Amino acid sequence: MAFRRVSLSRASLFRHNSLSSLIPFSLSHLTLSLQPNRGRISLSASLSSQDSTPSVDSSTIPNQRNRWKPMCLYYTQGKCTKMDDPTHLEKFNHNCSGELEVNSAKLKQTRCQQLDFFLVLDLEGKVEILEFPVLMLDAKTMEVVDIFHRFVRPSAMSEQRINEYIEGKYGKLGVDRVWHDTAIPFEEVIQQFEAWMAQHHLWGKELGERLRRAAFVTCGNWDLKTKVPQQCKVSRMMLPPYFLEWINLKDIYLNFYKRRATGMITMMKELQIPLVGSHHLGIDDTKNIARVLQHMLTDGALLQITARRNPEDPENVEFLFKNRIR
Ligand SMILES: [Zn+2]
Repeated sequence: MAFRRVSLSRASLFRHNSLSSLIPFSLSHLTLSLQPNRGRISLSASLSSQDSTPSVDSSTIPNQRNRWKPMCLYYTQGKCTKMDDPTHLEKFNHNCSGELEVNSAKLKQTRCQQLDFFLVLDLEGKVEILEFPVLMLDAKTMEVVDIFHRFVRPSAMSEQRINEYIEGKYGKLGVDRVWHDTAIPFEEVIQQFEAWMAQHHLWGKELGERLRRAAFVTCGNWDLKTKVPQQCKVSRMMLPPYFLEWINLKDIYLNFYKRRATGMITMMKELQIPLVGSHHLGIDDTKNIARVLQHMLTDGALLQITARRNPEDPENVEFLFKNRIR
């Protein structure tokens, strides 16, 4: 596996103006550094690529120890084979959990939640699912407990179509090479995800059960109302029982702040949360949605299930909030 960085301008790392006030950053000079102990806003764009665009020369970056590093997307999928290679470790970030730390003073304002864990999920892929990232957040401490991340290989598409699709979707983010190196079929992703949930005592297969004191949190209903059932049909699988209910963060946002937010970007702008990483890279969007969730929890929001399927009639989705984003 070859790693090379793509240019920062192509990767569109920063789309939110307020971040520039937090991090000394200049696109024109391609320099970038982080202040010490600013882990809360450490960046996670993921630029593993075989692409030959000129790279950022790390030797020109003044503070080697605290400089920004792209996240290793082999590592997020449990597939990094270079953990003993100092050059690789110097180039790529291998710590997912330090990025979403919440100031302990803010934890005092939170209310008691009915759930112990939130599983933030943000799928990518319009035709078939291409990326399946889940971030497990502790409802009390708001710490990231773990991340499950897999790139997903479509099962009903020709090789040529897959190549075009991936070039169009991930080529511009500079992660098409790592996608091709790591993507596995949806059925395998689900098997591994179930093992991951069992390891965290969130779910047990033998009971055919729903999640234990945990719920998926999505930005909109599309991921679990539409996309997962569609992909299950394409992949000839039953819809797993843990996907029968979820929390649409936009509905919680509307009922808590009494303001409509049409998407992640709107919520982030309104709450003045800087966008980190590459928008539409699933793992980065998941982290950004988790930042919105943390902000809402510290503001005192109560996270409750907003949509539920009838197990007897899974086509039928019941929405539990009267005021909701349609
Ligand atoms: Zn790595």
